Amino acid sequence: MPSKSLMKKYADLAVYIGANVQKNQTVVVRSSTESTELARAIAKSAYEAGAKRVRIDYADPYAGRIGYDGMSVETLQEVPEWIVQKFQEDVDTGACLISITSPIPEINKGVPAEKMQKASMAAMQKMSFFREHTMGNRTQWTIVAAANPEWAKKIFPDVPEEAATEKLWEAIFNATRVYEDQDPKALWDAHNETLGKHNDVLNNYQFKHLHFKNSLGTDLIVELVKDHVWAGGQEHSTKGVAFNPNIPTEESFTMPNKPGTRGRVYATKPLDYQGNLIDGFWLEFKDGKVVDYDAKAAKDALTNILEFDEGARYIGEIALIQHDSPIQNTGLLFYNTLFDENASCHMALGRAYPMNVKGGTSMSQEQLDQAGANNSMTHVDFMFGSADLDVTGVTHDGEEVPVMVQGNFVI
Ligand code: ZN
Ligand code: ZN
Repeated sequence: MPSKSLMKKYADLAVYIGANVQKNQTVVVRSSTESTELARAIAKSAYEAGAKRVRIDYADPYAGRIGYDGMSVETLQEVPEWIVQKFQEDVDTGACLISITSPIPEINKGVPAEKMQKASMAAMQKMSFFREHTMGNRTQWTIVAAANPEWAKKIFPDVPEEAATEKLWEAIFNATRVYEDQDPKALWDAHNETLGKHNDVLNNYQFKHLHFKNSLGTDLIVELVKDHVWAGGQEHSTKGVAFNPNIPTEESFTMPNKPGTRGRVYATKPLDYQGNLIDGFWLEFKDGKVVDYDAKAAKDALTNILEFDEGARYIGEIALIQHDSPIQNTGLLFYNTLFDENASCHMALGRAYPMNVKGGTSMSQEQLDQAGANNSMTHVDFMFGSADLDVTGVTHDGEEVPVMVQGNFVI
């Protein structure tokens, strides 16, 4: 286990910068049974910050697996009313939310995909009001991660379990700017300012398209929608409270115009999809659509992503991340989106975020379609940034502006 003082700094980061807990606010901590230590540290920090009440909801991933095996599909699709009521109460009391992710790799391997799909669809439908509440930033929410031995073994397969877990904690702290001799809150204030500045500059340019090029063979044009909004880093709740939804976060991201991507992109990190590691892959786009692709490993899994639905062959997100970043500098593949997507420039096949177009959060699906937003049930991020990636923005007047040179921001 990491030192008490580092754990305290990390908990403070989740409380003060992540959720930015307000005086007298109720805090709900969603934790895995693998991350009790961090959950307790967060509860303590939250009370110090003036929280009225802190509730920790523990979920046991192993019991979850036993449930998948033991329950019928029909039972899995029933969402008890008391659970809905609990979430409704959290909405009514204006609680903020701190989620701790501590993934157990392949915990649900072997559960029929259809069974899991039906169970999660039923929960998603019943809980849609709560998703709208959080995704609509009607309260502050944040996600942080905690190490566990199973996850650590996946990242460091040749290291004994205990040492691997220590190494994973160290990597998490490095990636989230938590150091023994520095104040993470000050580091995050500076970091948020840098991200905000990138967003502001990019929003002012309103580029027609971005051109990505590197020595691996990536040569790709990504058109952006009209009135696109670059976001990332700090956000504000509808009540005006600043918060950081993801810890860590390094990205500035926006909305591609659905039919406007053309050329070829080479992935620079393997993509973990439902327990399969897709590696050494490229995609060829024409009129926004993937028309050709190949992979050195797990090409079938890539095919599964692309055939998920009509929108899965189009992209819904383009994100710029400086190559020289704390996560990239760990040199690790975390097998977890919270970390891996923040290590490198990425794009997502599938659904676009409405917040990435002006007025998007109050648009109907039809209006979003018209704006150029891709619609899909899926959203799969993959990384294509590299140390030699150049990104050029092209304005509507045809002016070419270097945005990134050799993987790093120059704006
Ligand atoms: Zn992203
Ligand atoms: Zn994404």
